[in-house]
Amino acid sequence: KQELLQTLKGKEDVTLGGKKINLYANVGNISDVMTALKNDAAGIGLFRSEFLYLEKDHYPTEEEQFQVYKTVAETMAGKKVIIRTLDIGADKRIDYFNIEPEENPAMGYRAIRICLDREDVFKTQLRALYRASAYGNISIMYPMIISVEEVKKIKEISAGIRRELSAAGISFGNVEEGIMIETPAAALISDLLAKEVDFFSIGTNDLSQYTLAIDRQNPKLDIFFDPHHPAILRLLQMVADNAHKAGIWVGICGELGADISLTETFIRMGMDELSVSPAMVLPVRQKIRETT
Ligand code: PEP
Ligand code: MG
Repeated sequence: KQELLQTLKGKEDVTLGGKKINLYANVGNISDVMTALKNDAAGIGLFRSEFLYLEKDHYPTEEEQFQVYKTVAETMAGKKVIIRTLDIGADKRIDYFNIEPEENPAMGYRAIRICLDREDVFKTQLRALYRASAYGNISIMYPMIISVEEVKKIKEISAGIRRELSAAGISFGNVEEGIMIETPAAALISDLLAKEVDFFSIGTNDLSQYTLAIDRQNPKLDIFFDPHHPAILRLLQMVADNAHKAGIWVGICGELGADISLTETFIRMGMDELSVSPAMVLPVRQKIRETT
């Protein structure tokens, strides 16, 4: 079986009916990037930038971040690399952030909320990302979005960064900016959000947690967790339709994206991209190529 999968390396991610899917990998550090390449992923669909912050005892500087993003961009050699901005909170504790313990960290002070509150931290990351974009094909993705206002604020900040870099004569690439759809609020207003961004990537891990009101960290609830729940599937379809109506692309980067019993469903829904753990790239490729 492993040998059969190996023969799929270098093959296209196209269905029997001719629909092309962008099959990317989710990574959490540089060594994952190598694994993604070894498994022939066509790009990085989710680079979780948290590790940069978690492994340090200080805020990673612009230069430290720039070096990492640049390395990833260069390693992927022109293939798409979607880097997600910081997604921490009271569940992933980092001492130097001084975040107070919370009753409900999953619904707490986290991710984009911290970034919009702590603009200094956010801008440092954005500057590093834009500078690195001169060395490859970098896109930026924002987590835990719930409103159009947040997206407008983010765009204002990133436009400011581009102006700063231009004024200083520092070059940067043509960066796509997208958002994660991982709250029911974002899914339900995806028609409005789609007008503001270049792409959607659906985070089914959090979207399921919030939609089903099932804590993803509590194994005791596994018996109640149904990832194929029609509420989730309806939201996915809604998000795909709203993306396409606005002319942007849409994909899935949560674990569900690698569920090969749903690959055909995702393709029928119109998903343009699936981003899965590196080990799942070839199994999903096989499934895509068998699908009519
Ligand atoms: C998700 O929520 O589905 C996702 C991809 O992000 P994370 O698992 O890092 O929260
Ligand atoms: Mg998430």
